[in-house]
Amino acid sequence: MNEDFRLDPNRELDEVDHKYLELEEKIFCYNPNINTERLRSAYLFAREAHGEQLRKDGTLFITHPLAAAQIIADMELDEDSVIACLLHDTVEDTPVTHEDIAKHFGTEVANLVEGVTKLTRVVYTSKEEEQVENLRKMLMAMAKDIRVIIIKIADRLHNMRTMNYQSAEKQREKALETMEIYAPIAHRLGMQKIKWELEDLSLIYLDPLGYSEITAQIDHRKDKLESFMRKISNAITERMKAVGVKCGVYSRLKHIYSIYRKMYSQNKEFNEVLDLCAFRIIVDTVSDCYNALGQIHDLYNPMPGRFKDYISTPKPNMYQSIHTTVIGEEGIPFEVQIRTWEMHRTAEYGVAAHWKYKEGITATGDEEKFAWIRGLLETQQETDASDFVHGLKVDMFADEVYVFTPKGRVINLPAGATPIDFAYSIHTEVGNHMIGAKVNGRIATYDHILQNGDIVEISTSPSANGPSRDWMNIAKSSQARGKIKQWFKREKREENIIHGKASFDAEMKRNNLSLSDIPDAETLNTCLKKLSFADIEDMYAAIGYGGLTSLRAVNRFREEIVRAVRQHALEERAAQAAQQSQQPRPAPNKGVRGVIVGELDNCLIKFARCCTPVPGDKIVGFITKGFGVSVHRAECMNYLNSGVKGDEDDRWISVSWGDIGSDTYSTSLSIIARDRGNFVLDIATVLSTAKIKITSLNAREIGGGKAMAVVSLEVHSRAELQAAINRLSMIQGVSEVKRPGV
Ligand code: MN
Repeated sequence: MNEDFRLDPNRELDEVDHKYLELEEKIFCYNPNINTERLRSAYLFAREAHGEQLRKDGTLFITHPLAAAQIIADMELDEDSVIACLLHDTVEDTPVTHEDIAKHFGTEVANLVEGVTKLTRVVYTSKEEEQVENLRKMLMAMAKDIRVIIIKIADRLHNMRTMNYQSAEKQREKALETMEIYAPIAHRLGMQKIKWELEDLSLIYLDPLGYSEITAQIDHRKDKLESFMRKISNAITERMKAVGVKCGVYSRLKHIYSIYRKMYSQNKEFNEVLDLCAFRIIVDTVSDCYNALGQIHDLYNPMPGRFKDYISTPKPNMYQSIHTTVIGEEGIPFEVQIRTWEMHRTAEYGVAAHWKYKEGITATGDEEKFAWIRGLLETQQETDASDFVHGLKVDMFADEVYVFTPKGRVINLPAGATPIDFAYSIHTEVGNHMIGAKVNGRIATYDHILQNGDIVEISTSPSANGPSRDWMNIAKSSQARGKIKQWFKREKREENIIHGKASFDAEMKRNNLSLSDIPDAETLNTCLKKLSFADIEDMYAAIGYGGLTSLRAVNRFREEIVRAVRQHALEERAAQAAQQSQQPRPAPNKGVRGVIVGELDNCLIKFARCCTPVPGDKIVGFITKGFGVSVHRAECMNYLNSGVKGDEDDRWISVSWGDIGSDTYSTSLSIIARDRGNFVLDIATVLSTAKIKITSLNAREIGGGKAMAVVSLEVHSRAELQAAINRLSMIQGVSEVKRPGV
């Protein structure tokens, strides 16, 4: 390490060095184990790095990180936080690098400094409410380590304290940013004391008149207010002493901004704001809190509805206290807060209290760091605070990313978003005319994954070709994908048709189908109508721009083709049957045995040719004119269709299977398959292996590369037939095996 980095005992110490020594002393008081060498070298490192740099007020720049480190030490934070705070502006404002800091002070400190540097680079411009909330979240998400935020807040607090030499414009800008971003963050982290100071300092620049009016009024009443506070404090102290409650009693004026807000939100004059003073009783134990409360309510009249017990139910930011407002002798109301010392620390420094140096605790794991935050989650009450706390833990932001436009507008995108998503979120036309993207000033590819805080710039050209098809796969947001889809739909019909047709054909092929499988124009029209297209080009176009998947289209086509082929086959068979019926009817090859017909004895039975029932099928009987009872399957279309013909209803009778013995029954199956050699042979092999008797087997082409075989066979039962169907279905290329009549 450079010799200059040590405080030279022979060198004359200047004013700044003395300030550093004060800091060292302060830290030593709460952390006697502080590595003074390391702390000093951090101070000297920063001092050397900032060199002769001056602040606007003419002081050496080093006074700023030193003062910010004082604020950090007031919160009694750990050594790394103080060191990082001393170094917090070195990377941004001097040639010092992350690596330099890591080398001298370790990666933990280097990461803290880097975190603060990133936050410093965030430029706040927009004033819209939604934007402000996004920005707060972005800062939190960027920080990763809560200490980064705490250091940033200390940095901001000191800058606000020393804002008077800045230009009026800068003052306003920083004050607004502080009021809208940093004070709410401090509030939500439970850092009340700092929040109040940030608000009051901001108000000076945001409403100088309002601010000075209140301070003037307070000044005017200063003596009166002070004697009032003294009187009440004394009374409380005496009473507590008398009843043996050990405590500290403190009084203060409410902070300016809270008075200001009360005046403006309730439209009051200063005179009408009565409770300007607040009192605080700090005790050792929780039971003392309630003791003290009882005494206060005994001393003064409590105002109804103003008592709040945040001890039994802490606020989401872990704040605990008892609040009560009482009225003193003069009729002036005042608030009394009662809490333990432990609660007091949390109330003042909030989340920072957690990183307070604790003797004996050298390292705190992430687990412990977030225990505090989990505590917040578990005690959530106010929705806005719980929302925020929800976002506190870094991975809670895992599904979102916050980036900037070059003008500083915050854009909220899904995690994993790319410049394409960004462009479309700005405007559809920006996306459609994008010709390039820059991230943080560097040219980036379209699939570049955006990170929190990135500044994204999109180049556009009026003559851009528009999005390319692979953007659809790159874009992360459904919004961008939708807009890209829209564009293709509108702009690129010819191209869509070509792409869509290729995609459709490929999908058809995968399904062993082709357009030539469609038996007739009517079937094609039905397909298109069911998919809501006027013609096939429209359908191709839709597939091309992504409005319809080729899979969905092909599924629909397959359904229709199968339906049409089946229909054709049925019609053909009906024609055949009509032909056959003109020939002499062959005698049923089985007797009437096997079927029991209601109450009718010995009636003539025949098995309907249309559906060829076999034992095990549910059956019904139909009384034919002059030919006994014809037995149909209960699922036969002839039976089902007859249901509507009321006049024939009474001719249907119930029948059931009786003793069927070892008889076989004739039936048939139709088998549709891809037309290929050996198809018929395979059917015959399968059936004979199953020991099923085939009485006839015919096959023929039915167009579209398909063939249909009709096999007549004899089985003992429905179960045997079903087994045969199952086996036949497994033959290569078979798409359907069907019994007749349904
Ligand atoms: Mn700074």
